[in-house]
Amino acid sequence: MHYSSTRDNSLHLTAPQVIAQGLATDGGLYTPASLPQLPDAFWTTMGDLPYAQRAASVMRPFLPEFSDEELDALCAKAYAHFDHPDTAPVARVGDDAVLELWHGPTCAFKDMALQALPHLLTASLKKCGEQREVCILVATSGDTGKAALEGFKDVDGTKILVFYPRDGVSAVQQRQMVTQEGQNVCVSAVEGNFDDAQNGVKALFSDPTLRAQLNERNLFLSSANSINWGRVLPQLVYYVSAYTDMVRAGQVQPGQPINVCVPTGNFGNILAAYYAKQMGVPIARLLCASNQNDVLTRFITTGTYDRNRALHCTLSPSMDILISSNLERALHALSGGNDDVVRDLMRQLSQTGSYTVDAQLKQALQQQFYAACCDDATTKQTIAQVWRDKRYLLDPHTAVAYTVAQQYCAETGDNTPLLIVSTASPFKFADAVLSALQQPTGDNDEQQLAHLTGWRIPQPIAALAGKPIRFTGCTAKTELVNALSAFLSM
Ligand SMILES: *Cc1c(COP(=O)(O)O)cnc(C)c1O
Repeated sequence: MHYSSTRDNSLHLTAPQVIAQGLATDGGLYTPASLPQLPDAFWTTMGDLPYAQRAASVMRPFLPEFSDEELDALCAKAYAHFDHPDTAPVARVGDDAVLELWHGPTCAFKDMALQALPHLLTASLKKCGEQREVCILVATSGDTGKAALEGFKDVDGTKILVFYPRDGVSAVQQRQMVTQEGQNVCVSAVEGNFDDAQNGVKALFSDPTLRAQLNERNLFLSSANSINWGRVLPQLVYYVSAYTDMVRAGQVQPGQPINVCVPTGNFGNILAAYYAKQMGVPIARLLCASNQNDVLTRFITTGTYDRNRALHCTLSPSMDILISSNLERALHALSGGNDDVVRDLMRQLSQTGSYTVDAQLKQALQQQFYAACCDDATTKQTIAQVWRDKRYLLDPHTAVAYTVAQQYCAETGDNTPLLIVSTASPFKFADAVLSALQQPTGDNDEQQLAHLTGWRIPQPIAALAGKPIRFTGCTAKTELVNALSAFLSM
């Protein structure tokens, strides 16, 4: 098993190298040169295994440099802090299956990968002979920062510093971050919006003086970005696991195809579903669901990707995105691994903000993916309707997927069994969910929602109120380097 870049097939790297490096030097994304096939009838062999062991068995062929014991221990650690015995359970909602990816420590799907990445990364750095300690820098608009903090907290050989925009995260998200526990963590607000935080962090990464200073202290900077292969790989697992559970529950016949609907932002989650399909999970169509930011819907239906438009702030903020980075990996695969095509499209994207794929690539895309979008009003209607009819509570991201799945079935008459991917606990967005249920919102939204529905507040959210605030700092956007120096006591 080796890896190359989406923009250069001639590269030949190992898994530890690509995980340690993150982004390829040519600006492309690292991808496996081929996808290993799952064993025949994997749903039988995997059926009795707990999630961590399913994870080890799916990831093993991608990580030949890791010993069996090492990988087993890594997966056991990664999935030890989930509050459901199945880790990523499949719930039955009416005739449909809903894959709940929010039983981790931050109650959103980023935990599925960010609980594993720190262990994959530290092991990879060691295998690459890296002696220095890694300092992870994150600029976050909300979910990723907290999930990265929880993943890296107290992991040996790592430190993590997260910057969030003072004017750009929700109250719950801020509270989650400023109460973060752990000896190797630091959190700071940045004066300004997400762009200010992100630009500040980018400047730190490209500062040669800082790099030299860090190097002298045996330190270097890295990111926990969703384009790192170490974040995509753990996401393949839950599609294999979900199909296994659907067979075991009798929701599908062994080998019977399913459709999968994913609420999509950066395209990482749905890309993992596509890879799982290529590896042998019986998936017929992949339904790509967007909110009002419908760049992907337009791309998949027309073949033209165009980021030259305003970004809307919606009830599903983790999908408010104009450039879906992981789409590049899908383009590489769908074009039959044509690195020339990918390089050219990405050059057009960075120069003009748009590109159009040729008829053949468009056809390949549409054969695999269906896409649709919905606005906030429809999202709220769906939350209310599913609660009224099925007594199941959707968060706004999942409600976008649910809406698109319903639309797809009505439009096509396709009655293939459906797996809808649920990416956040409804309690993480309690105010939006309450307002969808036409309830007043205020100070105690989580309790209100629990009271109204009888659903239990997830422990990590319930515990927030009692946690002391550890990080009160706010940094000017030009002074992020001072916050970093203070954290590292330089
Ligand atoms: C990150 C996120 C998404 C989008 O996932 P991508 O892999 O970026 O497409 C959807 N929902 C929630 C709750 C998220 O945190």
